[in-house]
Amino acid sequence: MKRIVILGGGESGVGAAVLAKVKQFDVFLSDSGALKESYKETLLQYGIPFEEGHHSEELILNADEVVKSPGIPETAPMVVALRERGINIISEIEFAGRYDTAKKICITGSNGKTTTTSLIYYLLKNAGLDVGLGGNIGKSYAMQVALEKHDIYVLEISSFQLDGMYDFKADIAVLLNITPDHLDRYDHKMQNYINAKFRITRNMSKDDCFIFCSDDAITMGELDKIVLQAKKLPFTQEGKVEEGAYTENGNMVVAYEGKKFQMPIDEINIKGRHNVYNSMAAAIAGKVMHITDHSIRNSLMSFQGVEHRMEKVLSIGGVLYINDSKATNVNSTWYALESVHAPIILILGGKDKGNDYEPIYDLVREKVRAIVCLGVDNKKIHECFEDKVEAIYDTLSAEECVRQCAEIAEPGDTVLLSPCCASFDLFKNYEDRGRQFKEAVRRL
Ligand code: ADP
Repeated sequence: MKRIVILGGGESGVGAAVLAKVKQFDVFLSDSGALKESYKETLLQYGIPFEEGHHSEELILNADEVVKSPGIPETAPMVVALRERGINIISEIEFAGRYDTAKKICITGSNGKTTTTSLIYYLLKNAGLDVGLGGNIGKSYAMQVALEKHDIYVLEISSFQLDGMYDFKADIAVLLNITPDHLDRYDHKMQNYINAKFRITRNMSKDDCFIFCSDDAITMGELDKIVLQAKKLPFTQEGKVEEGAYTENGNMVVAYEGKKFQMPIDEINIKGRHNVYNSMAAAIAGKVMHITDHSIRNSLMSFQGVEHRMEKVLSIGGVLYINDSKATNVNSTWYALESVHAPIILILGGKDKGNDYEPIYDLVREKVRAIVCLGVDNKKIHECFEDKVEAIYDTLSAEECVRQCAEIAEPGDTVLLSPCCASFDLFKNYEDRGRQFKEAVRRL
């Protein structure tokens, strides 16, 4: 019996383990950290052997194939040992894709994945289709392939998942944008990260569609270099395209197979220039899936967005508080600053993944009055922004941070948590940071 070892017992690992069990492999799951109680229960329920707190070589190096959680880097000793032995290492999406004949719409990009994935799912669901949502969101894809079965899957796919994908094929692939992120996992080489993102187009044939942003210089540069069979459907806010999506006189226009669909940008419920991009990508996917114009319009008008992404919390004394805790890199903060009314009190800081803040210098000079740091080590923020804003404050908790903001804010200001950084220095994760921020605002 083929032995499948799963490294990492998070949502994707446990899903892959259950799928492997259902497919009658000899399965073993190993996590070097602690497993969540609910995941342990699932593993026990399916009779899947597992270990936590360490990796036992003798139970892992005898694998025929390994499904690795996207969170485990190539440099992890167990991964190195597996590679030395030439054991195949794949991602959960690759594994589940082998057992799934559904249509797959896959979304990747440096920013906007969750928003666009949720929006496409919402669009298809509202149109009455049988669709599953997976990848980096909610229930794992593998678990759904094991236990549910849908006609269509909408999958959010990170570059780490893509790294372990070989034979998987998307029917519709969406690449939203490429800006430097996670470079620590890519040998600090941008091209490696670009290559990972472009793996979304692997194995696509001329019957498949590739939806991408033609305003993104990095995407366009790469497209020039590669041969792609799939039908190319660009979206842009800077020009016009024959087939794809563009903006014209305040409208979003989607042109597909000789027909045009358009709606006023003002009617799109999620705001900001970045969300126009996300909506265009989703609308093209909707057209490819033969959703009616009426249905696409209604969905775009009613989609509420996703928590922690430019989420309006409260307006207190004329000061609007926005939770954009998910902005963990400079590019997403750029879009936040671009779409918010000045004057802004900007909350920055956390765990810096090697940020270059230069792209937001102009917007900060123009729109930001003060910066409130929410992080352990704020030296770099002080160095970069000291000469660009009136004042910079240091705080060490959401409570302290929000109080500081309230103290300096004046009616008409926007307090924006869009920190450019990961949250692990002070919080469990970005959700925890966002929630604590919202609670602190509500306590004001
Ligand atoms: P991801 O899943 O790729 O991290 P999210 O949808 O969670 O993307 O959004 C992450 C952050 O990026 C949010 O702060 C959001 O405001 C911003 N953002 C969303 N869409 C885009 C886009 N198309 N381009 C740039 N930034 C975006």
